[in-house]
Amino acid sequence: MKQITEMNSISEMAGISFDCDCGRKHSVDIGKIYIENQGVPEEVLKSVSQFKEQEILLVADTNTYKVYGSYVERMLSDSGFKLRTFVFKTERHLVPDEKALGLLLTEIETETSLVLAVGSGVINDVCKHVCHKTGKPYIILATAPSMDGYASVVSPIIVNGVKKTLSGNYPLAIIADVTVLKDAPMDMLRAGFGDILGKLTALADWKLSRIINNELYCQTCVKLIENALENCISNTDRLLTRDEQAVGFVMEALVLSGIAIGLHGDSRPASGAEHNFAHYWDMDAISKNIEHPLHGNSVAVGTVVTSYVYEYMKPFLPEGLPKLDTQMITGLLKRLGACYSPFALGIDKELFVRSMYEAYKLKPRYTIFNLAEEKGMLDKITKELTEKFYNEA
Ligand SMILES: [Zn+2]
Ligand SMILES: [Zn+2]
Repeated sequence: MKQITEMNSISEMAGISFDCDCGRKHSVDIGKIYIENQGVPEEVLKSVSQFKEQEILLVADTNTYKVYGSYVERMLSDSGFKLRTFVFKTERHLVPDEKALGLLLTEIETETSLVLAVGSGVINDVCKHVCHKTGKPYIILATAPSMDGYASVVSPIIVNGVKKTLSGNYPLAIIADVTVLKDAPMDMLRAGFGDILGKLTALADWKLSRIINNELYCQTCVKLIENALENCISNTDRLLTRDEQAVGFVMEALVLSGIAIGLHGDSRPASGAEHNFAHYWDMDAISKNIEHPLHGNSVAVGTVVTSYVYEYMKPFLPEGLPKLDTQMITGLLKRLGACYSPFALGIDKELFVRSMYEAYKLKPRYTIFNLAEEKGMLDKITKELTEKFYNEA
């Protein structure tokens, strides 16, 4: 069998298992991955065909129903499927909280055989958890390449005003029509790109901890993510023009990131200090009951901040780490019209300073911030970065 890192198409990775150089046996427990600009309707019909005799529940929100849900609904009804549709009524964004979970739960009947989720991050998270709890299978038809949770087994849900990581199942299939994805709001395309850009610092943190702490490491996972990153970075300008191939690369990278998490067994390959910032800022906004930026846009800014910290820490870094180029990272975000400073993202100075000291403690996972703290550098770095982001702004 071909090595996973040599596969030309992400669809080849579905369902495989292999012995890895890291000494473990890995598997991709997703039945089908199809990210294409043609043949998608046929693929959707094929994927749901085994449920033809039973009821399928199509789930969307007001927006995703409009852009894709109604089309899929018509196609399946015309093909003789027994279909019921549930649309979350939303004015802006659907909030992934206990109310959304409860609403969906009341729609699931004993005879529901499949949940067909049409949407992006939030729809996916809500369906994933409810299907896990009810034992129903689900398929996600993605409408935007905005976050890397499509291929993950966890659902971030807000319960009682606090963000929690609830359990979920892998989808039976992840299907995305690139001709639909490319028309997603530009802010969502930017967010997807930002979530991928974050892998630069995520991988640096992993490599750092491998050297310092001898942490379990998997070269296959790293290679998969590095390849995906390269595809996205070298096509940044084409993303801006909604080029189908460039949009497809971002979507594939997001799904791959979930696959790498599944291979490794936790989110280490995809999440480092930059994600801690995003989570910390999200939790702060949730506690104040205000809207927070899209996950990937926060991750992008977290990546800029973390990359600066790597620059400050250069004298203390062990040999063998890849060089992070803050100018390059900032340049890519500028070209996309994305935020590249916490100030521009709407993070106030007090929150930024607090997050410099606290965000890295959210997870017991070694990052450049642990090293900065150990070497007594965190105060100086925080002071200078705060000056840079807030007084020059
Ligand atoms: Zn992410
Ligand atoms: Zn491995």
